[in-house]
Amino acid sequence: MFESFLDFVFPTDCAVCKIPPSPLCDSCAPAFGVAKSSLEGTPVWYATEFTEPISRILTAYKDQNRTALITYLAPGLQQAVADAVLVLGSCWICVPPRNSINFRKRGFDSVLSLITAGDKFVPGHLPINTLRFQRQVRDQRRLDKPGRASNILGSMRAIPGFKRVLLIDDVMTTGSTLKECMRALGAAGYEVAGICVLAKRNL
Ligand SMILES: [Zn+2]
Repeated sequence: MFESFLDFVFPTDCAVCKIPPSPLCDSCAPAFGVAKSSLEGTPVWYATEFTEPISRILTAYKDQNRTALITYLAPGLQQAVADAVLVLGSCWICVPPRNSINFRKRGFDSVLSLITAGDKFVPGHLPINTLRFQRQVRDQRRLDKPGRASNILGSMRAIPGFKRVLLIDDVMTTGSTLKECMRALGAAGYEVAGICVLAKRNL
């Protein structure tokens, strides 16, 4: 009883094969290789097929509080995003809405955490230029501090409708969640340029 309590709080075994060490033994550590597919004509980049080990690792990470597994999962999703951005150029990043119950239970957004984990990915990595000047401005360098403020104040606008997004999720199974995301984004005037998932399940 006490041992299983300790195991829950401080797991010492591999999340897949249940033999030490934690969080994953070497032979259960996932290997990623980004591949391409599509969903309703939208390109999909995925880092791995949805294998049994990946399924167990994701479940342990998302639902069993084994957050140390992020070190093993994040590189796969981030590589898929990097490959997509090479092809698509800059996009906003969009993740499916949080399920409020899961979010309360987990206390974190599992997909966003995967995207932003480590030092390789910073949100500013994928800027989109929606800002334009709507009136002439003078060269700021020639102005003093108050002059710069009045020169630039109210000078910009964001361009509506110029909203290319890269839709990102952890697993694509039937694609229904992602399709609904695309429908809702499309109805709001967004263009979903691509989709990235960590794992794609073949049904
Ligand atoms: Zn193992």
